[in-house]
Amino acid sequence: MPLDDIDHVAVLGAGNMGHGITEVIAIAGYDVTMRDIETELVEDGYEDIKWSLEKLAEKERIDESPETVLDRISTMTDLEAAVAEADLVIEAAPEELDIKHDIFTDLETYTDEDTILASNTSSLPITDIAAATDRPERVVGMHFFNPPVKMDLVEVIYGDETSDATAETAYEFVESIDKTPIYVNKDVRGFVVNSVLGPFGDEAGWMASEGVADIREIDATMVHERGYPMGPFELADLTGIDIGYHVRTEAGKDVPPIVESKVEAEALGRKTGKGYYEYEDGDGVDYGPDDAADSVDWLRIEARIINEAAKLVGDDVATPDAIDTGLRLGAGFPEGPCRRADKLGLDTVLEKLDDLHAQYGEDRYEAADYLRELVDSGQTGEDADAGFYTYGSDDDRTYTTINVDHHEDGLLEIELDRPERMNALSQDLMDEVVHALETADEDEVRAVVFEGAGDRAFSAGADITGFAGMDPYESEVSEVFEVVADYPRPTLAKIDGFCLGGGHELALACDLRVATDGSEFGFPEINLGLIPGGGGTQRAVRMLTEARAKELVFRGNRIDAETAEEWGLINRAVPESEFEDTVEAFLDDLVTGAPVALRKAKRVMNRGRDQDISAGLQLESQAFGQLLSTDDVTEGTTAFMEDRKPEFEGQ
Ligand code: NAD
Repeated sequence: MPLDDIDHVAVLGAGNMGHGITEVIAIAGYDVTMRDIETELVEDGYEDIKWSLEKLAEKERIDESPETVLDRISTMTDLEAAVAEADLVIEAAPEELDIKHDIFTDLETYTDEDTILASNTSSLPITDIAAATDRPERVVGMHFFNPPVKMDLVEVIYGDETSDATAETAYEFVESIDKTPIYVNKDVRGFVVNSVLGPFGDEAGWMASEGVADIREIDATMVHERGYPMGPFELADLTGIDIGYHVRTEAGKDVPPIVESKVEAEALGRKTGKGYYEYEDGDGVDYGPDDAADSVDWLRIEARIINEAAKLVGDDVATPDAIDTGLRLGAGFPEGPCRRADKLGLDTVLEKLDDLHAQYGEDRYEAADYLRELVDSGQTGEDADAGFYTYGSDDDRTYTTINVDHHEDGLLEIELDRPERMNALSQDLMDEVVHALETADEDEVRAVVFEGAGDRAFSAGADITGFAGMDPYESEVSEVFEVVADYPRPTLAKIDGFCLGGGHELALACDLRVATDGSEFGFPEINLGLIPGGGGTQRAVRMLTEARAKELVFRGNRIDAETAEEWGLINRAVPESEFEDTVEAFLDDLVTGAPVALRKAKRVMNRGRDQDISAGLQLESQAFGQLLSTDDVTEGTTAFMEDRKPEFEGQ
């Protein structure tokens, strides 16, 4: 069944996942029936949806009223009636194969034979679930993450018999509800995200069990040095130590002694008030940046993660891009493991695994054939121009943090694609933007538009991981802002949501800015003990009155789009409903405008304005660089990550 034929969806289960899935599908405009086995349960699920929609409406995260969305949802307890009209059924019932079998057996009777039957299972093989029906080709995995309203990722999993047509429609359906799908081409245990994430907790567990480092040191190092959103022990406490324990034992794997001892003591994490950290009688998660330690051999953990990724690529389960997207969106990784591996050097990763294997003789350290093949063939990563991805040669470079679309009419569309980090500017992202602009055939480009992926931000700033403690000489004005500002074609920033810090500077480096009226602008750098370092101070003071520019930079507060328009910071602030049309009208003029005249107009206007800007920029960048080594920046960035107010001492 093609996507166009899907009008009505049924979700089975109104629990944690079922009600969230129902909500996102209804928000996207589909009619949904949510079914559970008892009236009270569907009613509870419905109330949860209502509550959540009201929150989303308060934060202006949905375009329609909660009532309009709720009107598309019906609730039922009768299975036959619930699925009678459905073109797609998504099962989100308890994680027991017997229950799923019963449901799929009934579905075969009650649904049309074209209906796509999806399961949201996290760990049962899709093939086993499909075995309950006579049409396994129509059965597919659709693995949403918890909570579905917030989490952008959905794994689309092939069972052994799933047809391409079924998987493709499921994939397109996920896109149509504004989520990001990745294909899992084979029905492997844990699918992509959980199997690659497995070693994060597992290897950390072995390291702590051996006593080479303690849990706080490991958590702190992974968070403050390697950029993960949570440490492995902190994460285990949150998800439940028993969950990881069962996953490993069911897979026939050894369990690190520290995990075993927690399970035996029934200290399972937050839910029991005690796990690796003490919640009831203690301070909860209580590590800080100072706990990061050299004794934590983080490469042990990352090498095993990368090894899992290599197995999946080698076995054609998923592409490096799908794996990286999955781990970024599904597990909050700061960058995908394949991308990170290419930076570390695959030879370094392989050597680590081989050393560990020689030392411990355990299967878990056995390197994937695919990883060894890459290294043997000289594809050791970015330095060699090829690894999981290809680099260097212009045509085959794969972007991992932006999407580039060069339209026939000459419009070059660059989408900042790190929605899980509100499109924060990482080094990779900035490099990729520069590469995209420098390698696009300029004669074929008439205008450039920048926008942010997801529905929350154009870009909420620079990635501050790694700012604190940086050596002053490492800081230079980032090339990207200059390349964008000097690009010989008109550029426009299409802003929907937060436009802060480095993202704001990128928008200011563009020629024109159009924003939705819910967007917000600001330079929060001062709150980190920093100043804007990508041309923000200089561009703002030239674009606005001095007073307004200084207000933005000194106070670090945000202003709304209406104020930004009044101040002359942006060209237009328009309601969401007029946004696309307004942007299109601007772009249409840019793309069809006289190219030579536009180029000259841009040049003379920039030059005229910027007669004294290079000195200003240099001053700004020196000041920024000097600030990086201050204690205030360490305090500011730490306070930000810990979500508290910083206490600056002026050091
Ligand atoms: P849950 O226990 O919160 O909800 C399950 C609901 O299904 C319950 O309300 C139950 O009454 C109902 N149910 C039982 N039999 C049913 C039937 N025959 N028809 C319809 N509904 C029935 O569980 P959950 O956390 O929502 O998990 C549901 C599924 O989603 C599981 O397969 C789970 O593995 C998967 N999943 C869970 C998470 C998570 O983090 N919770 C994440 C991804 C996937």
